[in-house]
Amino acid sequence: MTSWLEVAACRNCGHRQFPVPLACGRCGNAQFDYVPAKLGTLGETTRVRNSEQRIALVMLDAGPVVIAQLLQPLEPGTQVEVTRDDVIGAREIRR
Ligand SMILES: [Zn+2]
Repeated sequence: MTSWLEVAACRNCGHRQFPVPLACGRCGNAQFDYVPAKLGTLGETTRVRNSEQRIALVMLDAGPVVIAQLLQPLEPGTQVEVTRDDVIGAREIRR
């Protein structure tokens, strides 16, 4: 079953971070709410050395940037949904 990524939103200043830090990188607060981060935009992509696997930067609509495995061939700028199973994955948005 596919699950979705969540990012930490600082309860004091609202700064969003991933992965969840011990303390907010902006204000030091240690209490967070968790915000779904299902959608994003692909940045640069690259192929993993000696592998057919491709990875990409994904600028999450929720704020942080993550590195995700491409689950299908996609070009930078593509709007994607971000999954979280064994790895963080990116695939084209299902309409
Ligand atoms: Zn904060």
